[in-house]
Amino acid sequence: MTSESVAGATARDGGTRRIIVMMGAPGAGKGTQAERLADELGLPHVSTGELFREMLGSDSKLGRKVRGYVESGGLVPDDIVVAMVKGRLDEPDAAGGVILDGFPRTVAQAEALDRMLRKVGAAVTAVLYIEVPQEMLLARLTGRRICTLDDQHVYHVVAMPPRKEGICDVDGAELYQRKDDSEKTVQGRLDQQLPPMFEVVDYYAGHDVLFPVRGDQPPDGVTADLLRVVAVRDAA
Ligand code: AMP
Repeated sequence: MTSESVAGATARDGGTRRIIVMMGAPGAGKGTQAERLADELGLPHVSTGELFREMLGSDSKLGRKVRGYVESGGLVPDDIVVAMVKGRLDEPDAAGGVILDGFPRTVAQAEALDRMLRKVGAAVTAVLYIEVPQEMLLARLTGRRICTLDDQHVYHVVAMPPRKEGICDVDGAELYQRKDDSEKTVQGRLDQQLPPMFEVVDYYAGHDVLFPVRGDQPPDGVTADLLRVVAVRDAA
């Protein structure tokens, strides 16, 4: 444990409110696992990406302000994200806690989260970090294949292969790989997104709330490991 005051606020004394932060690279299965945990624990799944996409759907002032960032894949400024998360945490269904997904994305956001929780006598309960080796991430993210006739027919060369390689099970049409699933594009996305994620992971490691879980196993195994960590934290 490092700095006493922040460590105290981030770690143990969170009372019964469970503030769970999900972390993992693109392709680690973070969104799926966050959804499962939310179901199992009866907590709302708060995905900042989802909240922003909803915001774009409604023609609000804030929606217009964030559109450029979200559509270009850039990060929305910290003050906007932090205010949105604060508003979400203040909603009644978050009284027992939340599963945060996609937030915090920067150390400044992590610090802001600690501050806002400290003000209400709460703290981050656990940061669940789904670790997947980078070569496996690349394989997962480049493995998607789509039917040339119907883009609803989606396969994955490893996780959900078609019966006949390169051919759609439903209509026998050829499968193709989307341009943004190509190895070069995916590697570029990882190179851009991983360094800031590692900074946040390091921040939480330094505050004694980081719990890495192996993501290179079947999804049910990952869920079981995550639930085990939460149970241990609940008992602490
Ligand atoms: P996601 O679905 O998590 O990939 O998020 C979609 C988009 O929403 C991102 O590309 C960002 O533009 C924005 N976004 C989501 N979460 C954050 C965050 N914590 N900080 C800044 N921007 C975010």
